[in-house]
Amino acid sequence: MTGRYQPISGNDLARFSGPNTFMRLPQVNRLDGLDVAILGVPLDIGTSWRSGTRFGPKQIRAESAMIRPYNMATGAAPFDSLQVADIGDLAINTFSLADSLRIIAESYDQILAAGPVPMAMGGDHSITLPILRAIARRHGPVALVHVDAHADVNDEMFGMRETHGTVFRRAYEEGLIQPDRTYQIGIRGTGYSAGDFAEAAAWGFQQFPAHQLWHRGLEKLGAEIRRHVGDRPVYVTFDIDSLDPAFAPGTGTPEIGGLTTPQALQLIRALRGAKIVGCDLVEVSPPYDPSGNTALTGANILYELLCILPGVEHR
Ligand code: MN
Ligand code: MN
Repeated sequence: MTGRYQPISGNDLARFSGPNTFMRLPQVNRLDGLDVAILGVPLDIGTSWRSGTRFGPKQIRAESAMIRPYNMATGAAPFDSLQVADIGDLAINTFSLADSLRIIAESYDQILAAGPVPMAMGGDHSITLPILRAIARRHGPVALVHVDAHADVNDEMFGMRETHGTVFRRAYEEGLIQPDRTYQIGIRGTGYSAGDFAEAAAWGFQQFPAHQLWHRGLEKLGAEIRRHVGDRPVYVTFDIDSLDPAFAPGTGTPEIGGLTTPQALQLIRALRGAKIVGCDLVEVSPPYDPSGNTALTGANILYELLCILPGVEHR
């Protein structure tokens, strides 16, 4: 424990004061020696409906001040096991999506070369394509746990091939992911054609539509995925709109009939032991989140993901 960064305790400094970092961890500029780097990617120019995710990292950090270091349900003690810090926001170019995606990929190349597991706070889902490009350069094609209301497998949107709705078609085409070990969980809603999800299923993507998961615990699904990925490198991308808008209204493209917060926790906790090489939590849009509940939920989902990273001790 000595020498490891700890979140500032709410018993030492009132929760509403102190730095606006994830869980009030130290903000550091040096990557060496870090096991986990938490970073913000404040971008919303890849979205197709409501904007606002550029404010996501700031608000997720603010709501994360409530989270305490020990996971009372699972026994995870992430900060006693790993050196975790907030490395701030990437300096994206808010006037150019293409340039922003280049900046994200190059930044990830640096982070991954230095060693820490990156955990990103989005940002809209377009940030995940450059992240996966860098991840695949480092680790080869990864297994992908993709929790989302949407499959994000459009070919193009208004002629653009890189948007928040085209990410996983590009990832498939570019060989960044293992298609038969790509799991899309919570997909639902209305489509442009009745076969919108079928092409990705034919690539090998394993799809678990929300309606098949209603009123069910997700421990079993999580455990099956855990077994199926084995010791392959895994990337987890969690779109907050996978949750029902009753739980997470503050997002750009909400869809009714979604997952519950307990289902999200069951799924994540069941993945413990997987070789997770990075993860992100995307699509929190604070302007549509007046209560702060969406950012609070997003912050806790990131914490739960942190709790299952390789090397975390459980007490
Ligand atoms: Mn998405
Ligand atoms: Mn979505």
